[in-house]
Amino acid sequence: KEKTLAMIKPDGIAGNYTDVIKKTILDSGFSITQEMLLELNKETVRSFYAEHASKSFFPDLVQYMSRIKFSDFVKKVNAIADWRALIGPTDANNAKITQPNSIRAMCGMDLQRNCVHGSDSPQSADREIMFFFNKASSG
Ligand code: ATP
Repeated sequence: KEKTLAMIKPDGIAGNYTDVIKKTILDSGFSITQEMLLELNKETVRSFYAEHASKSFFPDLVQYMSRIKFSDFVKKVNAIADWRALIGPTDANNAKITQPNSIRAMCGMDLQRNCVHGSDSPQSADREIMFFFNKASSG
């Protein structure tokens, strides 16, 4: 089975969406294999989102992600694509219109505060699971 990194971002935690998001994960056929609650410092966020370092929204993104605690989970199945489908488009306002049943439609606020993250490819899943859990995603 495949694993992906699912993350509940600071706004998801602050809005008390952890339980409903975890229920959605389990109801959708994923199993949660590991989870942790972390408080990220700015260096860690910069490193996690390094691919966006040159974007105009990067300083804002670092501020947002390092604001408070968040948790993340790793799950199985056809996990990468299925989790991306379940969370919906990046912009939560767009999600509310185009995918009203998605997690971002349910708990996201806008383009930045979209409450969850999901790895977008097998390569990023490997990297991101290593990043937080320090072990390979296979097995
Ligand atoms: P994630 O990688 O967090 O799952 P994503 O793949 O849907 O989200 P990316 O394009 O990788 O979106 O952007 C990473 C994060 O940066 C987004 O989830 C969002 O929080 C923020 N972000 C992306 N684009 C913008 C933007 N134009 N303005 C503000 N914030 C943005």
